[in-house]
Amino acid sequence: MLTLSKYSFGVGDRFAHQAKAQLRACMLAAEQGAEVIPVWNKSHREHTTVGSQADSVRQAADAAVRALGWKKPYHVDADHIRLETVDGFIASSDFYTIDVADSIGKPAAAADVQALVDRHPELIGRIDIAGIDEPLAISRADVERTAGKFLKAVQEAGAIYRHIASSKGTGKFITEVSMDETDAAQTPPELLVILAALADEKIPLQTIAPKFTGRFNKGVDYVGDVAGFEREFSQDLAVIAFAIERYGLPASLKLSVHSGSDKFSIYTPIRRSLARFDAGVHLKTAGTTWLEEVIGLAEAGGEGLDLAKKIYAKALEKRDALCAPYAAVIDIDPARLPATDEVAGWSSEQYVAALRHDPTCREFNADLRQLIHVGYKIAAQFGDYYLRLLEACEETIARNVTGNLYERHLKPLFLDGRTSHPKQPIKSASR
Ligand SMILES: [Zn+2]
Repeated sequence: MLTLSKYSFGVGDRFAHQAKAQLRACMLAAEQGAEVIPVWNKSHREHTTVGSQADSVRQAADAAVRALGWKKPYHVDADHIRLETVDGFIASSDFYTIDVADSIGKPAAAADVQALVDRHPELIGRIDIAGIDEPLAISRADVERTAGKFLKAVQEAGAIYRHIASSKGTGKFITEVSMDETDAAQTPPELLVILAALADEKIPLQTIAPKFTGRFNKGVDYVGDVAGFEREFSQDLAVIAFAIERYGLPASLKLSVHSGSDKFSIYTPIRRSLARFDAGVHLKTAGTTWLEEVIGLAEAGGEGLDLAKKIYAKALEKRDALCAPYAAVIDIDPARLPATDEVAGWSSEQYVAALRHDPTCREFNADLRQLIHVGYKIAAQFGDYYLRLLEACEETIARNVTGNLYERHLKPLFLDGRTSHPKQPIKSASR
């Protein structure tokens, strides 16, 4: 079976020009002793917005790997696909993020819910799980309610998985199921019921993306109770370790954190939790690289800065339309967005300071950053003009792309504080 490595890192490359700069960040991490496997992810929505084809992601990834001589695995993720969009990704992807969030809350057949409850008496009662202090207490009504809410989505995941497997062959691809783009976070007990149901569907699940508590706004830091997040994340890890043993799910099964870029305040809690459970993680980033392209353009000055200003001006003008598809994952205060005229007068330093995600910088503007984040459609509309300047400003852009992924993401997640890991991580076998 094609197995996903313990630590993997989703990188998004909307305009297919940064794969080398992104791979370089993983190489820097490898040099420092952290093996983090790159996964290039791009969703149908992003392809549609940019006007690109699924194959372009594979081509860019292969070319970067060849150019830099990367010898470890790498993957290409058909991100957030559904039955109606998956076919375009069959040839080029070896990783599928099956998005069933739209089916959450849709009722499954009553007989199917009943069958699940009958099949899993072990889910009812007090369940001791290594790494969770209090046993989970789940009633029959809880299992019925959870199955009622999620079983339809799980069945749909099974149908999409089997559709992919019928073309690609069993064991030839990595399967993720995502439930993050929904209103309510899944609790650890709900996650356990969902995993039992996914195992019943015989999906060789390697990553699961629940929705976590708190806000994961695009391109900016986590908003929420960090201690609560750490508790929930740890409990999810404990539930996964338990479900691997109990339901025979792949040993490589791990959590996937979507909209994972720029969530600086939870990276240390994530790293600590992973160490406690000796667990792996997949963390997806996408738009953070596009933002570094704009930073690199601005930093280059001249035509690059000029284009960065035009992108902001257009994004401001089209704000409502750009924000609409991302309404659930951004929080922009329009009053904090500078006027076009003001930005037109900015130096490279001013533009970069406003956009670069440095929370200690007084000029950093999280509202402007989120607006640019959803504004990649503007760059796509500039077409060749945008691509030509990506190439002309490659030096400043590549430096920012690599530096952002390595310094602000890979290092705090996988390298910092490694000596403080406990000697004896919690293993479900130690129960
Ligand atoms: Zn997602």
